Amino acid sequence: MRLVGKVAIITGAGRGIGREAAVLFAREGAKVVLADVDPQAEKVVGEIEEFGGEAIFVRGDVTNRDSCAAMAAAAVSSFGRIDILVNNAGITRDAQLVKLAESDFDRVIAVNLKGTFNATQAVAPQMVEQGSGRIINVSSVVGLYGNFGQTNYAATKAGVIGMTKTWARELGRKGITVNAVAPGFIQTEMTESVPEKVLEMMRGRTPLGRLGTACDVANIYLFLASDDAAYVNGAVVCVDGGLIP
Ligand code: NAP
Repeated sequence: MRLVGKVAIITGAGRGIGREAAVLFAREGAKVVLADVDPQAEKVVGEIEEFGGEAIFVRGDVTNRDSCAAMAAAAVSSFGRIDILVNNAGITRDAQLVKLAESDFDRVIAVNLKGTFNATQAVAPQMVEQGSGRIINVSSVVGLYGNFGQTNYAATKAGVIGMTKTWARELGRKGITVNAVAPGFIQTEMTESVPEKVLEMMRGRTPLGRLGTACDVANIYLFLASDDAAYVNGAVVCVDGGLIP
């Protein structure tokens, strides 16, 4: 077990990749705080408790700074410390540039970019006090290459990489590593609305010939959260099956 004695906060842990990571981290011995706007994360806590793991659910919206402060406080009051933060919560509101509504641009920025900032700013002081910590920011290959119809999403995921590299410099000196994960096309509810024609094209551009699974990505979160990644800082790890952009 690779996370024994560690306390991890995972945002957007109610479903998809976040849910998979919460269960995996708990199986590896971590005490997990599942933060999500959706109460379905409470069910995941039940699943974790069934196999003897420890977890709590904190209902919270990463766009709300009080909510992020409450999430950090709940972790400390329930489990005494915070070792790992996974900024996994994310949304899409896709449209081509000329049709993209300002409200959809703003909402994606609020959740994916500012939400990552809000949650990290709420948690970092505790990690600095402890002199250790792991922050894993969730970007996307779209942040590296852009993508048709994803002006807002691509901007946030590129921005997450910029914040990752900045925090790696600022917090590395305090014993905290900060890395980003850039998944390719992963089968979750987020990609359910993507037309089959587009998914087929993505499979064709992936040398491994398939879309990724939530488990493929959660395994990389686990590696970056574990002691095995002690000297990895400021990195962007692609989990995309070798996607050809
Ligand atoms: P998902 O299935 O849509 O799950 C995202 C979770 O985040 C949901 O439970 C959602 O709650 C929650 N959430 C949304 N807004 C939130 C907020 N303001 N505060 C707290 N929680 C919030 O997404 P996923 O596919 O697992 O993606 C996880 C991460 O990987 C995201 O950052 C995404 O951008 C990134 N990613 C995914 C892919 C992919 O192909 N799936 C590729 C690259 C990167 P609701 O159910 O209420 O919406």
